[in-house]
Amino acid sequence: MATVTYDKATRRYDGSTRPAVDQLELEVGDGEFLVLVGPSGCGKSTALRMLAGLEPIDGGTMRIDDRDITNVDPSDRDIAMVFQTYALYPHMTVGENMGFALKIAGRPKDEIKTRVAEAAKVLDLTDYLDRKPKALSGGQRQRVAMGRAIVRSPQVFCMDEPLSNLDAKLRVATRTQIASLQRRLAVTTLYVTHDQVEAMTMGDRVAVLKDGVLQQVDAPRAMYDRPANMFVAGFIGSPAMNLLTVPVDGQGTVQVGSLGVPMPRDGHGGLTGSTVAIGIRPEDLRLVGTGEGVEVVVELVEELGSDAFLHGSVTGGAEGGGPGRPPQPAAQGGEGHAGPDPGAAALVRRLDRRPRRRLTPPAGDPPQDRRPQGFSSAATAGMLRWITGRARRGRPRRARGHRP
Ligand code: ADP
Repeated sequence: MATVTYDKATRRYDGSTRPAVDQLELEVGDGEFLVLVGPSGCGKSTALRMLAGLEPIDGGTMRIDDRDITNVDPSDRDIAMVFQTYALYPHMTVGENMGFALKIAGRPKDEIKTRVAEAAKVLDLTDYLDRKPKALSGGQRQRVAMGRAIVRSPQVFCMDEPLSNLDAKLRVATRTQIASLQRRLAVTTLYVTHDQVEAMTMGDRVAVLKDGVLQQVDAPRAMYDRPANMFVAGFIGSPAMNLLTVPVDGQGTVQVGSLGVPMPRDGHGGLTGSTVAIGIRPEDLRLVGTGEGVEVVVELVEELGSDAFLHGSVTGGAEGGGPGRPPQPAAQGGEGHAGPDPGAAALVRRLDRRPRRRLTPPAGDPPQDRRPQGFSSAATAGMLRWITGRARRGRPRRARGHRP
């Protein structure tokens, strides 16, 4: 076990105009599970490979505990890496793959056998030790790759998108296994993914990168509640937060479609007359009756069973007061492809009966921990386009204003 420190660590590839990883400052605690997340090309794999020694660094230093590993050979860093492609040796059995690193390190045969057997037990691979990788499923291969890392008892695990080759269902099951295994082993782990749901569900803390620059590092819930900037606000959370750029009027109010929303009292003083960005999480919206809230024309209903996502557009102030055009429920089957989807159809029927149903953010000042923080004034307002409300099934807050 160990701590990991990136101290202004920088990697610039030859010929590129900006660093792939730019002065990264990050401390990972002993036994912590830290997830590096961000869109493709943001530098997460490079950051991980820098730690493992597979990528040289062009500036700054890196440490494991107090040991400067900046120029230490990868094989002397005591790090085990798990790759997206598993990188198993096809001609070796599962047992041989798992024990190979110990074998080339010259460990005694008995010790190798014992450690492989222990790891196989933990990973439910005991019955497969004599099989070759080609006779395994994707999930089993992934576990062998994990096993190969575990038998080394390294100070640090580095995992680079280890679940990306699995189908969606197996990915969910395996992420739970990896997260609980890591907690049991308590080995400091850096885990790379582009999937923010994976990041939020697995990590003790999550570090968000964009264009090689660290945006925020925090516990999942804290990041969800208090994103440090617009990028993190839009990236963390599914479905994504609605982000609107709107002017603040003389009363410290911003207009969201036809609804005036007062800015938090302690925040609007200096903002009057300027433009601010506000963020509203879809799950904080609820359906209310006519005459309240924000009028939304629903364009698409995504019916997931437990939830239904409504996609639509906010209609603006005065012109929003008319009868309103009926919603265009694409989920019901656009272009003559009316599909047998009773759940979505039922929701659409409810919406059809009350086409000017409104969605509203919580009234008045939002509670302290829900206030959008760190948003700065930004570009001009565009068309307000919402990825909107989630109608939760069987939960109390759905009931309000929901019945036709
Ligand atoms: P991520 O893992 O977040 O998808 P990477 O760390 O792989 O991103 O890449 C970060 C940036 O560095 C990207 O712009 C990518 O094109 C660039 N990059 C990655 N590897 C190389 C390389 N070997 N040579 C040149 N540029 C690279």
